[in-house]
Amino acid sequence: MKKIGIFGGTFDPVHWGHIILAKDAAEQVKLDCVIFVPARLQPFKLDKKITSKIDRFQMLKIATGDAENLEVSAYELEADGISYTYLTMRAMRKRYGTDTKLYFITGTDSFLKIETWKNAEELLSDYAYIVGVRPGYRQEELDACMDRIRQRYGTEVRNIANVQVDVSSTEIRELLEAGGQAQALVPAGVERYIKTHGLYR
Ligand code: ATP
Repeated sequence: MKKIGIFGGTFDPVHWGHIILAKDAAEQVKLDCVIFVPARLQPFKLDKKITSKIDRFQMLKIATGDAENLEVSAYELEADGISYTYLTMRAMRKRYGTDTKLYFITGTDSFLKIETWKNAEELLSDYAYIVGVRPGYRQEELDACMDRIRQRYGTEVRNIANVQVDVSSTEIRELLEAGGQAQALVPAGVERYIKTHGLYR
């Protein structure tokens, strides 16, 4: 059976934490590929100003360019309205059919909140999950959350041993706004794109 990881996020901008999580997930769960799906309007960030969809998409294309098993989908960017994960996963199921196993990939923070997402019951009943560890969160809290979700919905949840990268897009935006450099935090091509397009100034 083919196995595909779907990795949703705002990616404003994409950073090493995202890329390394995707690569570690692909390797450890033996995924055929990971598809990054940048959100048009993230339900929990509706009050925040986000970088244009074109810039976020281009940075993802640059960041994933060298890896054969990393792809970027414009599905949410092209859809109308708020980007709800259950709608994206329904579309991916339709596209890849029932002989492909779909995993949704998250970091610790997102998985801890997943039961508050729209149509959480459908999301947790119909798909498998790969959770990557993100620094700054308690493992016991994640373990309790994974156990509860496995019991309540019968969900397959894989907590992988990814290389931990202590970075967030917020930190990068704040650093660049203050005139700093993000070179260690994002791939070199993404850094060049940010500079050339005068983003986050
Ligand atoms: P922001 O700071 O703008 O909220 P972010 O860095 O958290 O952004 P998102 O695009 O919101 O990035 O995250 C997309 C997904 O990637 C989420 O599931 C999140 O948990 C995960 N993620 C983000 N950064 C890391 C990291 N450093 N390590 C592991 N997972 C991460």
